[in-house]
Amino acid sequence: RHAGTRSSTARSEELAARAGRVIPGGVNSPVRAFASVGGAPRFLVSGRGAYVTDADGNEYTDLVAAWGPALLGHAHPAVIDAVKSAAERGLGFGASVPAEAELAEEIISRVPAVERLRLVSTGTEATMTAIRLARGATGRPLLVKFAGHYHGHSDGLLAEAGSGLATLSLPGSAGVTEATAAQTLVLPYNDLPALEAAFTEHGERIAAIIAEAAAANMGVLPPEPGFTRSMIELAHRHGALVILDEVLTGFRAGPSGYLGVLGDELRGDGTGDPVAPDLLTFGKVVGGGLPLAAVGGRADLMDLLAPLGPVYQAGTLSGNPVALAAGLTTLRHADAAAYSRIAAAADAIAGAVSSALDGAGVPHRVQRAGTLFSVLFGEFAAAPRGYAEVQRQETVRYRAFFHAMLDQGVNLPPSAFEAWFVTAAHDDAAVERIVAALPGAARAAARS
Ligand code: PMP
Repeated sequence: RHAGTRSSTARSEELAARAGRVIPGGVNSPVRAFASVGGAPRFLVSGRGAYVTDADGNEYTDLVAAWGPALLGHAHPAVIDAVKSAAERGLGFGASVPAEAELAEEIISRVPAVERLRLVSTGTEATMTAIRLARGATGRPLLVKFAGHYHGHSDGLLAEAGSGLATLSLPGSAGVTEATAAQTLVLPYNDLPALEAAFTEHGERIAAIIAEAAAANMGVLPPEPGFTRSMIELAHRHGALVILDEVLTGFRAGPSGYLGVLGDELRGDGTGDPVAPDLLTFGKVVGGGLPLAAVGGRADLMDLLAPLGPVYQAGTLSGNPVALAAGLTTLRHADAAAYSRIAAAADAIAGAVSSALDGAGVPHRVQRAGTLFSVLFGEFAAAPRGYAEVQRQETVRYRAFFHAMLDQGVNLPPSAFEAWFVTAAHDDAAVERIVAALPGAARAAARS
């Protein structure tokens, strides 16, 4: 069943009750609990292309895409075949396998700023490693991050972070020591004067700035024109490094991530050398749905990692061959046709959301960064520049909109602070199903 039927959720509710007895909050990652939208989280049992099916047999057109990894759609046949044949050869050996260098080569060929790459298992590990590298390379203690940016759940990065912390309105996490928190300077995004002031005050002690390539964990909020370039130049003038976090945007916002979308901008006026981030982190799409992430960047920095250098980093499951098969196959199928399909679907859906909300008289803004988008409910005279502005959005309206879409068979992120993800499997029929549900959801948002 799909569009138009208000469906049973009895089985999902039973499963949630059961999980709640043995798993904190019934979930292994907080936003899955429908914490801010309320209602019964759907337990999903299968997915194919643009569609997912829940435990009660309801089918949904999906705009979560596993929070990003399912770039080609769920259970893409080539990815599943590659995973099966890798699994048949063994699930992992704790020794090097040929596909590790193949994946590194694939990423290096797409992102020139990456000269060397190390594979890890989650985005959290990738950013954690990048920060340790930056501190090891510079001998400096402080890290600059931007409010509303999310870089995983390592201690130093949970200050004013996006994603689940934004959804739950948490300023940080219990369990982080003051000493650790004091090593992170949190600044407003897109605010060059604030960044300059921080470097004036602490310049000699700042190891790195970490930034999402385009913020997408407080809803989508791209860097303003010129901001990324100025940020990199400023850091470099002060001997600090820049870590560009492409865990979410990498190989999704475009074939070479958001860095590729920025392209010309990093070349400035064309007279000087293009500026580049020193380290980059990847996750989600690079693992094609299995646990795999990566940190990469300048060779001289990356070669500080053990066993060559003094910065330690390791992982029992790093470079797992089954995850490598999923990631490599996903990237190899992520060709120009796939990206143009994703862009076309994103344009069509984002445009239809706007028309439906305009039609129902609901004030809103559609936020875009490459093929990523999200919707902000409320009156915004100008494009928001940072976290303080997006926190003023009307989450009550998102909640009504989300449930009306879900009831009509469309699976949106269960939080107003997350990006919407389309896949290359979102063909005209899938887009049509989403578009058909929008007027009803817009009316629900208007009533809320
Ligand atoms: N960085 C960014 C930009 C992310 O979006 C995420 C996850 N949403 C992470 C890091 C952390 O990745 P993981 O959940 O795989 O640890």
